Amino acid sequence: MKINIITGASRGLGRSMALHLADKGQDSIITYHTNKAAADEVVKAIAAKGGKAVALQLDVSKPATFDAFLAEIKSALANTWQRDTFDHLVNNAGTGMYVPIKDVTEERFDEIMTIHLKAPFFLTQKLLPNMADGGRIINVSSGLARFSHPGSSTYAMMKGGIEVFTRYLAKELGPRRITANTLAPGAIETDFGGGRTRDNKEINALIAGQTALGRVGLPDDIGALAAAMLSDDFRWVNGQRVEASGGIYL
Ligand code: NDP
Repeated sequence: MKINIITGASRGLGRSMALHLADKGQDSIITYHTNKAAADEVVKAIAAKGGKAVALQLDVSKPATFDAFLAEIKSALANTWQRDTFDHLVNNAGTGMYVPIKDVTEERFDEIMTIHLKAPFFLTQKLLPNMADGGRIINVSSGLARFSHPGSSTYAMMKGGIEVFTRYLAKELGPRRITANTLAPGAIETDFGGGRTRDNKEINALIAGQTALGRVGLPDDIGALAAAMLSDDFRWVNGQRVEASGGIYL
């Protein structure tokens, strides 16, 4: 039995990952920020598939709370699985930011840096002692770290940073047989960025038109990939960036 920790899995991509992993017989500790009801629904859906899940609150913009979060993780592992280790960590939680360089304030820059760069770094550091040897880490990046859209500089440069961090994790954790890879989604129809990719017909058509497969991504496209990346078939892939965008801007 493999146990995943997936941040930001009450909605969107994280939710889909947890459900696809349940289909493969893997249990999950999922986190939510404010949306407890949605997280509880995910726990119920996993139970309906015959799996086990626990939902914990986490605000990745507040690294000072990570010690308390670790204590909750340890309790959840002991109470639900009678274990003191987990197997896979997916650093997924996050919010978007669409502001041109000339208008970015230091405050917003720091906020996005904490959510997308500092949090994955220090959360991983805190959780690593409780990750089983042979475990896996997926850091969620973005297509925007490869190509450039006006307004996404701050967000995209943090995602670029997470890709570098992933390679260093892979290097340093090799002796423990832990792999680390980046999953970089293209634009996917979720609530992200106010749901603009899903709800704004112009943006949706623009992205679909630039995509080799001719449509925008759906959460299941990413959930299925994460489950594949956390399966035994992916064991020899390490320190790599896997972009899942249907082939955008090729
Ligand atoms: P959603 O907005 O659909 O879901 C975001 C999730 O993150 C929710 O579970 C939310 O919790 C949680 N969350 C938000 N803010 C915080 C916070 N401060 N602390 C902890 N958790 C938080 O987004 P997606 O599922 O689309 O995005 C997931 C990841 O994928 C992000 O890292 C994003 O950058 C990346 N990504 C998304 C793309 C897209 O087009 N959708 C494209 C490329 C990358 P709650 O429900 O409680 O609010």
